[in-house]
Amino acid sequence: MTTIEVVQGDITTVEVDAIVNAANSGLLGGGGVDGAIHRAGGPEILAECRQLRATTLQDGLPAGQAVATTAGRLPARWVIHTVGPVYSASDDRSATLRSAYTASLAVAADLGAQSVAFPLISSGVYGWPADDAVRQAVGAVRESDSGIPRVLFVAFDARMASLLRGEVG
Ligand code: ADP
Repeated sequence: MTTIEVVQGDITTVEVDAIVNAANSGLLGGGGVDGAIHRAGGPEILAECRQLRATTLQDGLPAGQAVATTAGRLPARWVIHTVGPVYSASDDRSATLRSAYTASLAVAADLGAQSVAFPLISSGVYGWPADDAVRQAVGAVRESDSGIPRVLFVAFDARMASLLRGEVG
């Protein structure tokens, strides 16, 4: 059984085994939560991402998949980088969005993580409407059979926190 919690704040400060990064396919940093994680975690994270791009992920990380690196200076032990889909009103990409959550949980379980914190993937620059992003996120975590005991959703603002609390119940 997985316990789901909602907290409001900055995911880089959360004390869990693994935090998830809403990265882009290039894995070499970006804006939003990605930028915040690299800034707070320091250059070790980027160095490992570059290493991955030079070896196993030469074409980048596809949307819906996940990969782990060190967390550098962050309180977490690992950063799990995943890529959400860019929102499209005409093309239903929700399976890929849900896969970003379940693939991250699978990577976390392989590492032996007991606690994982997620930002709301695709809900920023990638444009996913917040209410549906919340539904997909909570649904995906509930349906996954990762066995991770504790999952936190970290909302950056009060509106997102309240949507998440409404969905988690
Ligand atoms: P995406 O490209 O997947 O949309 P973004 O980083 O633009 O990713 O946004 C994803 C979500 O992360 C947004 O809801 C944004 O408000 C939130 N966010 C941005 N910075 C942080 C942070 N430091 N901690 C937690 N959430 C954050």
